[in-house]
Amino acid sequence: MIDPQKTMQRDKCDRCHQPTNGVTTMSMFNQEVICIPCKDKEKHEPGYKEAVEADHAAIRKGDYNFPGIGRGKKQMPH
Ligand SMILES: [Zn+2]
Repeated sequence: MIDPQKTMQRDKCDRCHQPTNGVTTMSMFNQEVICIPCKDKEKHEPGYKEAVEADHAAIRKGDYNFPGIGRGKKQMPH
């Protein structure tokens, strides 16, 4: 079992490369570990709802390594 607190730790945001001050979260679109301002922006991006639903659907199927649907894409993965 991977410790999410360790794998999600970043000194700098994967997306905007600004210091995270130790506060990070996983993107819903892909496997980037991002800062809270980026997360807030991501919530308003097209397809965010689909990304969340795809992530939850994968977890229900037991797929905890689901990489996300990608940003700016509408199509669902198989
Ligand atoms: Zn950021």
